[in-house]
Amino acid sequence: MKIIMLGAPGAGKGTYAKQITQKYGIPAISTGDIFRENIKAGTELGKKAKGYMDAGNLVPDELVCDLVVDRLKQDDCKKGYILDGFPRTIPQAEALTEALKKQDDGIDFALEINMADEAIIERMAGRRVCKGCGATYHIVNIPPKKEGICDECGGEIVLRDDDAPETVKKRLEVYHEQTAPLIEYYDKLGLLNVIDGSKGLEACMADIYAVLESK
Ligand code: ADP
Ligand code: ZN
Repeated sequence: MKIIMLGAPGAGKGTYAKQITQKYGIPAISTGDIFRENIKAGTELGKKAKGYMDAGNLVPDELVCDLVVDRLKQDDCKKGYILDGFPRTIPQAEALTEALKKQDDGIDFALEINMADEAIIERMAGRRVCKGCGATYHIVNIPPKKEGICDECGGEIVLRDDDAPETVKKRLEVYHEQTAPLIEYYDKLGLLNVIDGSKGLEACMADIYAVLESK
């Protein structure tokens, strides 16, 4: 099962992807996480990506596409995968379609988590991330057991650099300009499923599972 998660930053793609991973045993591949790991490790890729990310801009396509296509060749992707945060532009989507076509392969589902910008801005203000392992929390909706401390690794929980309110606005602008056109792209391919992201985690997951079980 090969799944793409679409939707604005902060719509909950990562949270849903993690649940799908647990249920179906396929890896969730988040390009944002890959970049953040590279920044933390001080790699060349991380150095190149950081400036774009902190400003709320997209990292250039050429730094993203090969990275993802290579990742999909690894053994753990044989049964399928969930892509979270990729593709994010039409050229990225075309590169993915082409790369898969070469192996007689293709995406099975594109899930769009649909949410209004205002709801996203509100939600992002409460989003926190663990400095140690990258686990995400929300001060109201998904609080850690102990305030400020990660349940998984005991690390410190902080606001992500690019979750500052001004940067969130910029990321939403970038989303509407560069990523939202993918909704039509996948609709034309007959792969699009729209999920109402305002319903809350459990209702959303039920809708997602209904879609994934339908094929
Ligand atoms: P969110 O979904 O909350 O926006 P991500 O963790 O997916 O957060 O992405 C964080 C940042 O990483 C993006 O704002 C962008 O700068 C960069 N990034 C992640 N994936 C891509 C991609 N496919 N193409 C370009 N930039 C990306
Ligand atoms: Zn942690």
